[in-house]
Amino acid sequence: MTVRPKVCFDRILPRDMMRFQRTMRARGGRTRAISPIGKTWMNGSTLRVRFMSGTPAEQAVAREQAGWWASAANLAFDFNNAPDAEIRITFDLNDGAWSYIGTDCRSIPSNEATMNLGFLDGGTAAHEFGHAIGLAHEHQNPAGGIQWNEQVVIRELAKPPNLWDEDKARHNVLRKYSVDQINGTEFDPDSIMLYFFPASWTLNGIATKANDVLSRLDKEFIAGAKMYPKTGGTVVDATILEVNAGSRTQASIGKVGEEDLFRFTAAADGSYVVDTRGPTDVVMKLFGPNSETALIAEDDDSGIDTNASISADLIAGDYFVQVRHYNRASGMGNYSILVRKV
Ligand SMILES: [Zn+2]
Repeated sequence: MTVRPKVCFDRILPRDMMRFQRTMRARGGRTRAISPIGKTWMNGSTLRVRFMSGTPAEQAVAREQAGWWASAANLAFDFNNAPDAEIRITFDLNDGAWSYIGTDCRSIPSNEATMNLGFLDGGTAAHEFGHAIGLAHEHQNPAGGIQWNEQVVIRELAKPPNLWDEDKARHNVLRKYSVDQINGTEFDPDSIMLYFFPASWTLNGIATKANDVLSRLDKEFIAGAKMYPKTGGTVVDATILEVNAGSRTQASIGKVGEEDLFRFTAAADGSYVVDTRGPTDVVMKLFGPNSETALIAEDDDSGIDTNASISADLIAGDYFVQVRHYNRASGMGNYSILVRKV
């Protein structure tokens, strides 16, 4: 009897198709694992988790494997079953394994699950929690060495347990993220975010193994400057920015991987621009209102030279701005930041 792969599928929100803020430019550099742009939670966040079903044993597996990420990254999970928890889990045996990706979870009505663990083989729960903290499928890495035998993949995925039509097989397996939709460039065959595929699915005879634990590169990537570095600041350390301040606030990334956090209050609804200036190539994210987990926009190079600029229509409230250096390997330097209402 043939063992058929159980394949997790991404749930991508339709609004991704109409994301207007250009977020990132493709460049060289060596990074691993992949993350769709703009879906990471604020560094240092505590994500609350609610179990909507599941036996104590199933829930224990989910808790344990979520902890693998929490021990590598500057993120914590609180399994407090809060009604409005960011991550809400069902264990529906008939619905496969899936999760929404990162901050997309916030767009799901709070009476619906953001993750289903219909099977718990090996590292499945860790894999789904990888999605929940912003990771995509490693087999969709555009730098991946997999050349699919499309006919075989489509035929096999049409069979149980997946029962997928061609569109779904293309979306979940054959389609790769375009380079400027993701963070990361190099394929990691040991990633927990890779699923098992037999060699017959590929033209170049590459088979993959199911990975049941986080790879060294998974841990490195999730703790890296683009994701959740433990050296990064957290919400309580945020520097206050005054809107339309008379002068720009001077700042610096003093250590490789360091992340600066600012907060400002939008006193009234309107259009606001946050931008950086200076020789330092930074990546900036804007979160809010009144939330460290709701990402509004991410930008790398929209400003002058390699500076970042985000303009957004904001409602009155408190906002967080997170600034990191683009280059994790050598990323340090001075910059200035200003927020203004236009
Ligand atoms: Zn998956």
